[in-house]
Amino acid sequence: MLALVKAVSGPGLELLDVPRPTIGINDVLIRVHKTGICGTDLHIESWDPWAAKTIRPPLVVGHEFVGRIVEVGSNVADFHPDDLVSGEGHVVCGRCRHCLAGRRHLCANAIGLGVGRDGAFAEYVALPMTNVWHHWPGIDEEVAAIFDPFGNAVHTALAFPVLGEDVLVSGAGPIGLMATAVARHAGARFVVVSEPNAYRRELATRMGATVVVDPLARDLHDVQAELGMVEGFDVALEMSGNPAALRTALDNMAHGGGVALLGIPTEDVSLDVNAIVFKMLTLRGIYGREMYETWYKMTVMLESGLDIRPAITHRYSFRDHEAAFAAARSGDSGKVILDWNPQTNG
Ligand code: NAD
Ligand code: ZN
Repeated sequence: MLALVKAVSGPGLELLDVPRPTIGINDVLIRVHKTGICGTDLHIESWDPWAAKTIRPPLVVGHEFVGRIVEVGSNVADFHPDDLVSGEGHVVCGRCRHCLAGRRHLCANAIGLGVGRDGAFAEYVALPMTNVWHHWPGIDEEVAAIFDPFGNAVHTALAFPVLGEDVLVSGAGPIGLMATAVARHAGARFVVVSEPNAYRRELATRMGATVVVDPLARDLHDVQAELGMVEGFDVALEMSGNPAALRTALDNMAHGGGVALLGIPTEDVSLDVNAIVFKMLTLRGIYGREMYETWYKMTVMLESGLDIRPAITHRYSFRDHEAAFAAARSGDSGKVILDWNPQTNG
């Protein structure tokens, strides 16, 4: 099969002919239709310090996908050939304290698809059946392809109650964009999106932001005054990984507010701990998604009218992966989709 492979240590990815994965009795084999490019894939492609420390080539990359099952192991009863599915990108150990207690999203030994095991940027991907999510027939396959980052957005946006609350979203990358729509759908009063990139601010408006702000040009206290807010934001979703964005969020929080941290800083961050203490804030780290409560919520929110499609801006054949990665890296994009369908790719 064809797959996008990190073949050797160093920058770049290669489209190579590699053996189709084989499955064990508890696994399913999936013919991949569409995949989404994530920041993690960009790190692996460019071979930054995190990738050099984490990735052991050769590795098939990628973890955001949708496809149809072509084969199931002898122990698999709930999935069948031709089912339309996506996969949870964290393969958990099943044996640690949290896994045994049913809190699999807190697994101490999770292995990332396309990071610690061969991933989904390929014609076929194999996964344990416990990592597979059924889609309803007729779901938009592009939306289904990005359930993994959509799950990051939902898990973060719902980390604190948002009904009637004023929410700050820092960073309008694909995940911040989706979180904006989720916070609106879940009943927030104001959703203010802070993002330096003009293309992404425009997308944030389309996703339902009340106000979009360039943090380099405008103080958030001004925005609060414009909206008639008096005590600060009740909930902040940190989705930039930028230290200044986190400090600005803390400075604009209401007493008792909740700050959900999804963005991954690449440097040490110093914070005003006094603000955290005296405003009695709760800071919560978010990694991945809840298995499978977040997946359930994603499904039912889409069924009840949530629309995340405006966050998808670019589509390429997998053969044009270099152009696709360049679009994702440019910042002037939302989610970038690779098409692996044989009908559309010869
Ligand atoms: P992204 O890099 O596309 O988006 C980040 C956005 O933040 C960019 O649009 C950037 O312009 C913006 N930004 C930069 N400085 C800012 C500032 N001072 N104020 C406001 N915005 C600023 O990333 P993404 O794919 O949307 O992911 C969001 C973040 O979440 C990234 O840091 C990513 O590494 C992280 N992430 C975490 C998890 C997890 O499980 N915790 C999973 C996926 C991604
Ligand atoms: Zn575990």
